[in-house]
Amino acid sequence: MSTAAGSTNRSQNAAGVQAPPRLDLRAATGGGLFEYAPAPESVRPAIADRYGLFINGRFTDPTSSKRFTTINPATEATLSEVAEANEADVDAAVRAARDALPAWAGLPGKERGKFLYRIARRLQERARELAVLETMDGGKPIKESRDVDIPLAAAHFFHHAGWADKLQYAFPGREPRPVGVCGQIIPWNFPLLMAAWKIAPALACGNTVVLKPAETTPLTALRLAEICDEIGLPPGVVNIVTGAGATGAAIVNHPGIDKIAFTGSTEVGKIIAKAVAPTHKRLTLELGGKSANIIFEDASIDQAVEGIIEGIYFNQGHVCCAGSRLFVQESVLDRVIGKLKDRMSTLRVGDPLDKNTDVGAINSKAQLATIGKYLEIGSKEGAERHDCGTADLPGKGYFCRPCFFTGVQPSHTIAREEIFGPVLAVMSFRTPEEAISRANNTPYGLAAGVWTDKGSKIFDTARRLDAGVVWLNTYNKFDPTSPFGGFKESGFGREGGRHGLLAYLA
Ligand code: NAP
Ligand code: MG
Repeated sequence: MSTAAGSTNRSQNAAGVQAPPRLDLRAATGGGLFEYAPAPESVRPAIADRYGLFINGRFTDPTSSKRFTTINPATEATLSEVAEANEADVDAAVRAARDALPAWAGLPGKERGKFLYRIARRLQERARELAVLETMDGGKPIKESRDVDIPLAAAHFFHHAGWADKLQYAFPGREPRPVGVCGQIIPWNFPLLMAAWKIAPALACGNTVVLKPAETTPLTALRLAEICDEIGLPPGVVNIVTGAGATGAAIVNHPGIDKIAFTGSTEVGKIIAKAVAPTHKRLTLELGGKSANIIFEDASIDQAVEGIIEGIYFNQGHVCCAGSRLFVQESVLDRVIGKLKDRMSTLRVGDPLDKNTDVGAINSKAQLATIGKYLEIGSKEGAERHDCGTADLPGKGYFCRPCFFTGVQPSHTIAREEIFGPVLAVMSFRTPEEAISRANNTPYGLAAGVWTDKGSKIFDTARRLDAGVVWLNTYNKFDPTSPFGGFKESGFGREGGRHGLLAYLA
């Protein structure tokens, strides 16, 4: 911690008594509140030079011999070469899943549950290694992969292990049957967690799966494949095929698939919806968002600002439900902006493997360029940008200084389009009516946050917001018991809770 002396200022009150000196912490410490010594994570998981495809319980070479590299976005160093699955590989994976289906679906629920419990326990046992790997492959701060991603992934397996033998109680009067072979495609922002969200309910309900992780973050899904093997999961129940968009499309278009579960952008979601529409396949889509946080004048402002920070700068804003639009009641706008600036000046941006880092690396060069494009458009359209802190960003790797824009109009691009980066658009409102209509004025409907001290306002606002999840005096809190999913162009279907099981039952 820095011990530099702070600048002080004194003022006299009306009676001429001199007030005690006030320490200007920001000036004293060069902008930040204080500095921590580096605390780098010491574990380095073993990473193979090359990875194959996990098909029928074994790692196999891709038929085309094609591979692609996955890098560490914080250092730009190559981590591994990963197999690129083509249509023939996807076909082999679907066949393996089909062959494994009767025995897996026929197991008593309590036996299937035991496998899920074993996966959950193994995720916990290997949690530290998985957290470091997630951070290295994707760029998120270690404190998030350690405290959020990996524990929640294990929690999803535990939760669904418990459902496996209770499905007839979850849906009384109905004979629960699996849908069949499920094709699952996931994005790069929560790689292991999204795999858990998809695989755990599918397996609990007696389905078998073919899952494709995102091109930039395949390593933890491949570790999960290793874990499936370690715990003795029957071959073919879980198949993991790596590759880019074409591999995803091969899964979507394979006639042997009974259900597609997709999490990703609205753009790709629409392509998938069109491809699946004329087929027998079932479909769930978890897509993009432009979620609103609403601060009423009676809110606890400090608490709200903390939630806003968590809502947009958490995971570099690579969160589908990021609170990327902030609506503040006019009477408290200046206070909120002042406190937001103060709090942002304490955010640490940098090495994701440092345990003190709050904001890590942007997931890829392409995503950094996309964010940069939106920052330019924001300024060009007339909004004013406020950057967080002044400390230098690392010289290598893909980093973006968190920022927010004021003077934003609802028609501005940065108020309408998903940026998927640490960029917040701040707007104001006068009445609750105006807040709700402006928050709902978007094609998306994934999540929202409401900050107020008044219970009746909480319930009234939450009821009228078109969003799948509404957080009240908190933000970005997840739990496997709570269903998650969108309204409007944010998709359909729910993941988690009892509702999430429905997508995997015929
Ligand atoms: P994306 O480009 O849509 O990719 C998602 C996945 O689909 C990746 O595995 C991708 O492979 C694959 N893919 C790409 N083109 C495909 C095609 N034509 N057919 C089948 N699969 C295809 O999205 P992203 O950029 O990775 O992720 C960010 C987006 O995901 C954001 O819009 C975010 O809001 C959304 N998201 C939503 C949720 C939610 O729960 N609603 C959660 C997380 C993220 P490659 O990676 O190899 O291109
Ligand atoms: Mg990577």
